Amino acid sequence: MKVLIREEEIHDGIARLAKQLHEHYGDSPLTIVAIMTGSLVMLADLIRRLEMPVRISLIAVSSYRGKMTPGELEIDDSRMLDIRGRDVLLIDDIFDTGNTLVEVTARLQKLNPKSIRTAVFLRKEGTSKVTQRPDYSVFDIPNAFVVGYGLDYEDLYRNLPYVGVLEEADLKQPLPH
Ligand code: 5GP
Ligand code: MG
Repeated sequence: MKVLIREEEIHDGIARLAKQLHEHYGDSPLTIVAIMTGSLVMLADLIRRLEMPVRISLIAVSSYRGKMTPGELEIDDSRMLDIRGRDVLLIDDIFDTGNTLVEVTARLQKLNPKSIRTAVFLRKEGTSKVTQRPDYSVFDIPNAFVVGYGLDYEDLYRNLPYVGVLEEADLKQPLPH
């Protein structure tokens, strides 16, 4: 595994994001909507650096399989908090084509929040297929498949404390049960 972003760099990056959020929101309460499961680690690190009152709401997004056209997303917001009139920060692990962020933002908008901003841990360069951009991205990375710090390959590697690029040798190893 090739290390792309070291643990110390991530630590500093999350601190930088927290500072930007304090500058923008001040002491106002913030509702963070986190897209599972990839943003879990970022969520845990970020919220412990925030000093305003924070609410946390989790949603799950998955790509439709089977008869639906690819790219269409299934959004499970059954456990969403009431965000009407609230300042919302939507967070996700990575911005690739941008479809996830666009679709989830549109869905949240219908719930009449006071505002919505978006923050991603990683943003891939040159892969976006939408005009919307995240308001905050902790790191911009080249177009490679990355794992760690919440990001998975076949549901594994989320627990790595760094971000790595999978190499041929990693992919050839049999996956544990
Ligand atoms: P988008 O909708 O922006 O194309 O994709 C966002 C989702 O695709 C992310 O939430 C993540 O689940 C997945 N994804 C995109 N690129 C990568 C990557 O390099 N590594 C991993 N592990 N997931 C990725
Ligand atoms: Mg995801």
